[in-house]
This record gives sequence, structure tokens and C-alpha cells, in this order.
Amino acid sequence: MRLLIMGPPGAGKGTQAKFIAEHFGIPAISTGDIFRANVSQGTPLGVEAKRYMDAGEYVPDEVTNRMVRNRIDEPDAEHGFLLDGYPRTLSQVEELDGMIRHTGHQLDAVVVLTVDQDEIVQRLLQRAQTEGRADDTEEVIRRRQEVYVEQTQPLIEVYKQRGLVHEIDGLGEVDEVTKRIFTALDVVPES
Ligand code: ADP
Repeated sequence: MRLLIMGPPGAGKGTQAKFIAEHFGIPAISTGDIFRANVSQGTPLGVEAKRYMDAGEYVPDEVTNRMVRNRIDEPDAEHGFLLDGYPRTLSQVEELDGMIRHTGHQLDAVVVLTVDQDEIVQRLLQRAQTEGRADDTEEVIRRRQEVYVEQTQPLIEVYKQRGLVHEIDGLGEVDEVTKRIFTALDVVPES
């Protein structure tokens, strides 16, 4: 299974990604989590990424692509993976196509979580209080949403044209949303 989960910041991708990945026995790979781990360990990648993350901007494609390429080359991703937070730009879509083609497999499905803007800001401000993420201030949240609409939302159309998209209503209880995703994905054949 090779899956993507997409949706605006705060849509609940990370939460759902864990359940989906567990169900299929594949790793959930979150670029945001990998960047944050590098930032807290003070690695050169973290130092570079932090400047962009704190401003709500995307880390340059070259840096992100290299990181994802290395991660999906690891043995645990050999039989599949769920990517959360990647691809986020058209150039990343092309890179990912190349990476997957190289393994002789294909992308199976793209889960798109849809949520309303106001709900999202509320969720993110709440997360700011509980998790204390540096990029969860109101100004940065707004910038992340703009960047998402400009750069990432158009990718959904690309994947729709490939017939891969399952749009899922992201509003409601966490397990309700998970159920909707499973119902949608169970019709996807294993590759
Ligand atoms: P969110 O909760 O807003 O969806 P993530 O936790 O997925 O955010 O990512 C946090 C930050 O990490 C992003 O705002 C961005 O700076 C950086 N980042 C994550 N994934 C990518 C990517 N695919 N391309 C560029 N930057 C990324």
C-alpha cells in the first residue's frame, strides 16, 4: 500500500495517519515530524528547516525531497508507506512519482481530509496551548493556510485526474473520521 494523506494544516492528518498506517502495517511518514525531530536535535537539516517552519513557509523542495527519498529507502517502507505532509508542491509530486516508479510500484490512493477554515484555526490555536508548537501562533497559522491554498491545494486536482482521490469529511469525532476513511479505502485493491 502506498498512500498519501492531504488536507489543510489542522485537518487532523497526523492523527488519522497513525490509524491508517497501523491498519495496513506500514509506516506513517510525516515530513513535519521529521523536520521537528531534526530541529530539536539541532542537526544541520533542522537548523536549515527551522527558519522556514517558524515563518509558516515551506522548506525548499530540494531539502525536503532528499529527506523523503532517504526515508522511503529504509527497510520498513519496502512494502509501502503513508505519507503525511508530502508532496506539498508540484515539483514534489514529480519527485515522488519518480521515487515510486523506481521501486516498480504505484500510488494506491490519496485521502483528502476536508474541513472548514474557522474550525481549523480553532483546532490549531488549541494545539498551540497543549503541544506548544512554535509554528502555532495565529499569524503563522494564517500564513500556513495561505501557502497551503496557493501551493498545495492545486495538487488535489492532479491526483483527482489520476482517479486516486477519496475526499473525506474531517469534521466530527476522531473515530468517526477514521471509520469514514476505512470505508473509503477498503474498496482500494492492494498492489
Ligand atoms: P501542518 O500541521 O501545518 O500540516 P506539518 O507538521 O505537516 O504542518 O509541517 C510543519 C512545517 O514543516 C510546514 O509548515 C513546513 O515548513 C515544513 N514542511 C513539512 N512538510 C513539507 C513539505 N513537503 N515541503 C516543504 N515544507 C514542509
